[in-house]
Order: sequence, then C-alpha cells, then structure tokens
Amino acid sequence: MTGDLMHNSDHASGDSQPSRDPAAQPDGSDSRIEACWGRVNQRMRKDIGDAAWRSWIKPLRVSRLEDGTLTLEADSTLARERVSSQYADRLRVISAAEFGDVVSTIRHIEVRLASVVGRPTNAPRRLSGQAATSPASAAPSMATPRDPKDEATAGLDPRYTFANFVVGKPNELAFAVARRAAESTHVAFNPLFLYGGVGLGKTHLMHAIAWHIRAQNPSRKVMYLSAEKFMYRFVRALRFRDTMSFKEQFRSVDVLMIDDVQFISGKDSTQEEFFHTFNALVEDGRQVIISADKSPTDLEGMEERLRSRLGWGMVADIHPADYELRLGILQSKAEKAPVDIPDKVLEFMAHRIVSNVRELEGALNRILAHAMLVGRAITIDSTAELLADLLRASSRQVSVDAIQKQVAAHYGVRLSEMFSARRSRDIARPRQIAMYLAKNLTSLSYPDIGRQFGGRDHTTVMHAVKTIENLANNDARINEDLTLLKSLIGS
Ligand code: ADP
Ligand code: MG
Repeated sequence: MTGDLMHNSDHASGDSQPSRDPAAQPDGSDSRIEACWGRVNQRMRKDIGDAAWRSWIKPLRVSRLEDGTLTLEADSTLARERVSSQYADRLRVISAAEFGDVVSTIRHIEVRLASVVGRPTNAPRRLSGQAATSPASAAPSMATPRDPKDEATAGLDPRYTFANFVVGKPNELAFAVARRAAESTHVAFNPLFLYGGVGLGKTHLMHAIAWHIRAQNPSRKVMYLSAEKFMYRFVRALRFRDTMSFKEQFRSVDVLMIDDVQFISGKDSTQEEFFHTFNALVEDGRQVIISADKSPTDLEGMEERLRSRLGWGMVADIHPADYELRLGILQSKAEKAPVDIPDKVLEFMAHRIVSNVRELEGALNRILAHAMLVGRAITIDSTAELLADLLRASSRQVSVDAIQKQVAAHYGVRLSEMFSARRSRDIARPRQIAMYLAKNLTSLSYPDIGRQFGGRDHTTVMHAVKTIENLANNDARINEDLTLLKSLIGS
C-alpha cells in the first residue's frame, strides 16, 4: 500500500485516447480495458447505489492507463471534484482488482476534465501530494504523549498505530482513507465515516489517525472521544448550565473524532447538539471523523437529516476479516510474542475463529499465556482444548445461506425464489421472513442482506424486517413459525 493513492489533475486535457503502458500489458487491447471498466462500474453500482453511480461514475470515461495510474475523464469540475474526493479510493481498490488481467497494479486514480473548454477558474485542490511511502515507515514510531494532561492523547492506546495495523482486502479502503485523513493538512472529505462490525479495527484506525497527526503535525488540535463520552459531557454541561464552554471546547479543534456514534441513536437532545457541533465544524473547514457499527443509512434511531449529513463525505466500510487477513494479523502479533507459535497453530486459529479481530487477539493471548505458564510447546491439540468455548461459538455462526434453505424448506418454496424477482404473496412472505431472520441472526447490514437476496435494495430489506416485526406482534402463527425457524437455524 502506498500513501500516494490519488491526485487530482490540475490540468485539463483534450487527450482522450486510451494509451497504455506497453511494458505492463503486452496484449492489452481497448476492448479488454472496456471490459474491465465495465466490471468496475458494476461493482461501484452495487457499492454506492444506483443513484450515486448514475450521477458520478457512469459518466466517467477511461482516458489512459499508464505507470499504475488510471486516468479518468469527468464532464465537469463538480464531477471531477466529487469523484476525486469521495470515490477515488473505492475506485482504486476495485480497479486494482478488476484490471488484474491487464495491468499488474493500479496505484492512483487521476480524474481530469474531459476537455480544455470549461476549465475551472478556481485552482483545484490537490488532494494528496505525499510521496509514496510504506505505512510502516511513515507511521509515528510509538508516539508518546508529550503532555500527559493533553486531552488529545489521554485516551489513546499506544499500540493502535498505523504501523501495527495489518492491511488486507477487507479493510484496505478504510485504511487508505484513514491514512489520507491523517496525512492531509487540509480537509479532503468531510466527514470521514468509518463503519463495520464490532472488533474489526475502527477504534484502532481512529487512534492511529490521532497518533499520526500528533507526531507529524503537532499544531493541529485533535480530539478523540466516544459518542458515549460526548453525551456524558453534554448532559453534565446541561446540568451545570455550562453549555457555552461545552460548545467552545469542541468547536476549537481541527480534527474531531467521535467513536461509536450509534450510541446516540434514540437520544434526541444529544443528537441535536451533536448535529450542531458537527455542522459548525464542517462549515468551518475542520475535519470530522466518525465511526459506527452501521452505515449512515442503516443507523436506526438517528434523525433523518443527521443520517443523510453523515453520508455526505467519505464512507468507508470495514468488512469482517477473511482468512488471509486473520492469518496476517495472527502472524504479526505472534512475531512480537516471547514464545514461539508454530505456523500450523496460527493457521488452525485463522481457520476456526472467524468472528472478529478482537476475539482472535483474545484467543492468541490465551494461548500465549498458557504456553508461558506451563512452558510446554504449543500444538493444535492443546490449542483446540484451550479455545474450546471460542471454537464452539464460531461454528455456531449462522449464514444467510442456511437461513434461506431452512425457510424455503419450511414453506415449501424453491430456494431460487429467495433470489427471484417474483412478488406473489406465497413467495414474497417467506422471502421477507428469511430477510428478517438474516437481520436478527447475523451481524450483516441491510445492504449486505439485500445483496444476498438477489441484489435487492437495502430499503426492501428494511421494509421486510418492519413488516415481519409487525406481523409477529399480531399473528400468533407467524410468531410460532419464527420461533421454530430460529431454533432450527441456530442448532
Ligand atoms: P472496533 O473499534 O471496530 O470494535 P477495535 O479497533 O477495538 O475494533 O479492534 C479490536 C482489536 O483488534 C484491537 O486490539 C485492534 O488492535 C485489533 N485489530 C483490529 N483490526 C486489526 C488489524 N487490521 N491489524 C491489527 N490489529 C487489528
Ligand atoms: Mg471501537
């Protein structure tokens, strides 16, 4: 991964002929590039939704592909700015994967204006000018608080640095944008919204941003706090009629990070205050960084205007760690451990503990503690024994696939109807029940579930969940069905 992910071309160009790096792609033809770009489009459309895709991504054209840079052309300054600030990282990650058979890698996305005509009068912002550096070399070396009373570093875990963060496909985008937010001296996207399930590294990345800024740019005032703490302080300020200094305290920072913002769901006056603080900072050009367990659209109990405002900047999701990433994390932590852990044991753990990184770390710590205590070599057998509870919990993880099969069998409909477009009641109802169960028995988000039901929109899933919830309250038979299905699926 390089720090130099993309830059905004400040010269418009009339050159729209795709030109490619001959060394990197001996037989890359235009049609292959078009095919790759087509796949990138499909994935972007799924990721960011139809409306955003239509407005911003669909009108883009590939202009050239050279030296690891994919140059795209936009029709307007607005489109160029928007794509650069909001979609370039995602485009880069997806393009790197989809252009795999044409070039070995894509390191930058450059967006330029389609023609010299219409060149903007205001000089475009350069979004990232850093030279390529490896994450490890650029990360602060265990930055320690300069001033122990300093609020910015008081609650920060010194282990949570970029250098200690293992990057893989599932967290690549979040890592890239977090680094950019940490490295830029101006606001690249506002807010930066990081979301993902519990234990996947959101807090780690936020602390890493704070450490990085502390080390590289100590004059920037960073404030990190959990949404819970934000609320606590707000309530206290209300009680002591001291809301003025409460506001002051937040509104004087350059970078405000609020962790686990879902905490203020349903807490109306805190939300209101947060919304005002948020707007004041954004209007003032300060960077706001938010984390949550769900995407802005999926945050229930949040006021609509706040939800939509939260999604305006850069939204980056962290997916559950896949096998490679789990193994990578275990290896990196095992390297620093005082006892030796055989590769086979690490592989075994990476295979079997799939829930989240926090649990993976916990498991590793347990193994290490035991090894140091009893001084015996670590084997797969001893590991399995020590981690018996965790391994059982992991194998109980429910998949959407299992839910769909069970529900289809229960109602006597074909499994394929779970993905089909047919809407007749006898098919739609079981499908809604399956969506409801998927929401309740897995940690997947609405969009994730929608994708697993034939690419349906997240609003369809939300509607299904609501419908079944209502039915379950009023219809004893449905309620019974649900209880039965849950027990069948969970066992
Ligand atoms: P979240 O805030 O998303 O619930 P955390 O940031 O608290 O998760 O991460 C849980 C634990 O897992 C932390 O100890 C963190 O250091 C570790 N962790 C998560 N992702 C990674 C990663 N990619 N590389 C190294 N450690 C990680
Ligand atoms: Mg956290």
